[in-house]
Amino acid sequence: MRLNVLKSKEKENAMAFDPATLFASAKTAYDIAKGISALNTDVERNQAVSKILEVLLSVQNDALLMKEKHSLFLTEIDNLKKKISEFEKWSEIESQYDLKEIAAGVFVYAYKKTDKAIEPSHWLCAKCFNTDKKKSIFQRFSHNSHGVHYKCHTCGSEIVDHSNPKHYPTPPSPGGFF
Ligand SMILES: [Zn+2]
Repeated sequence: MRLNVLKSKEKENAMAFDPATLFASAKTAYDIAKGISALNTDVERNQAVSKILEVLLSVQNDALLMKEKHSLFLTEIDNLKKKISEFEKWSEIESQYDLKEIAAGVFVYAYKKTDKAIEPSHWLCAKCFNTDKKKSIFQRFSHNSHGVHYKCHTCGSEIVDHSNPKHYPTPPSPGGFF
C-alpha cells in the first residue's frame, strides 16, 4: 500500500517535471565552469567547483525524471493503442447486430442477415452486449407452456421467448410424450 502511494507520488513528480529545468541547470553549471579561470583564490574556486557538483547532481536527478516521464508516456501510448484496437474490434462486432424485441419486453441483439453474414442466425445477450461490450450467444436450454427458454452462459441471464407459447406444449407427464 505504502509502495503504491510512493509509486503514484513518483509518477506525479515525473509527469509534472518540465524538461526546461534540466536545460536551465545545465546552463548554470556551464556558466560557473566558464567563470572559474577568472576567480582569484582557491577558496573561491573550491566554492565554484562544489556549486558545479551540486548543480550537476540536480541535472542528473532531472534526467532521471525525464527518463521516467518518457517511459510513462510510452506506457500510456501503448495503453491507448490497445484501447483503440479494442474499440475498433467492438465497433465491427456491434455493426453486425440489431436490437430486437423477440417477444413483448424481451430484448436481444440479433445477428443481421446481410450479404456479408457468415455466421448462422443467433441472438446475443443484451446485458453482456451493452454493459461489458461482450459477444455472448443465448443458448436454448428448455421450453414449456410459457415459451422457449434461453440462457447466457457468461452472465447467467435468462430469457423466455413467449411470443408463441402454444407452439411449445408443457413437458410430458410421466409416460407421455410430445
Ligand atoms: Zn450475458
